Amino acid sequence: MTETQAGRVVLVTGANRGIGRAIAESFVAAGDRVATIYRSGDLPEGVFGVVGDVTSSEAVDEAFTTIEKELGPVNVLVANAGITRDQLLMRMTDDEFEQVIDVNLTGTFRCVRRASKAMIKARGGRIIMISSVVGLYGGPGQVNYAASKAGLVGMARSITRELGGRGITANVVAPGFIETAMTDALPEETQKKYKATIPAGRFAQSHEVAAAVRFLASDEASYISGAVIPVDGGLGMGH
Ligand code: NDP
Repeated sequence: MTETQAGRVVLVTGANRGIGRAIAESFVAAGDRVATIYRSGDLPEGVFGVVGDVTSSEAVDEAFTTIEKELGPVNVLVANAGITRDQLLMRMTDDEFEQVIDVNLTGTFRCVRRASKAMIKARGGRIIMISSVVGLYGGPGQVNYAASKAGLVGMARSITRELGGRGITANVVAPGFIETAMTDALPEETQKKYKATIPAGRFAQSHEVAAAVRFLASDEASYISGAVIPVDGGLGMGH
């Protein structure tokens, strides 16, 4: 880590569990000041948490204000909070579609919009959105989820065009299968079947996603913007 990066304020949404937790832990380990907007659960050591829901613009605004008072303006935003409500197209309800869009896409928009204020003032900032291989590859039963995750690509690229001249980068990380409680719970045969489709032959660890996020937030990635970085063991390959 270079000196200019030390002590940055990094906000990771949904850092209480899963990939968000691993991302937050890795920024703490790198010496950054880390905050989260989270709904429930406990947080990793060293993470300043404000309870809030990304489906509420007011909650997002209040959480940012509290974080700014406590740690200072947010230099790096990692929009990680996300949900699935898988269902076959014919059976998918408006609610199932809209809830997923509201958290994954609009929730990210709410956080990015609020973060951009201070970033524009500071003439610098890093925005990293956690998408999914499914965003560009598609997935049966995931019309809502894939649409929300593909939407992040258009969002990051539009932010790049709008704010790229102000030292702000916006990128997307697209994980494939990650070893979590969810993938652990899959029957061994199903896991085998999935792994056979992944060139790497295995699922990823959360820290492998965190490493890509940290790179995009680093000084070394200053000229990368509007990119989609897959962390999927070769599953998507450009899709
Ligand atoms: P988890 O379900 O383990 O965690 C999701 C996190 O998002 C939780 O902290 C959850 O909070 C939070 N969250 C959900 N809704 C809201 C909300 N309305 N407001 C605030 N926080 C919210 O998921 P993962 O760690 O597996 O996934 C993290 C991200 O990575 C997601 O965007 C997901 O789509 C993406 N991803 C995951 C993959 C995987 O294999 N796991 C693969 C590709 C992408 P709470 O604990 O309160 O529910």
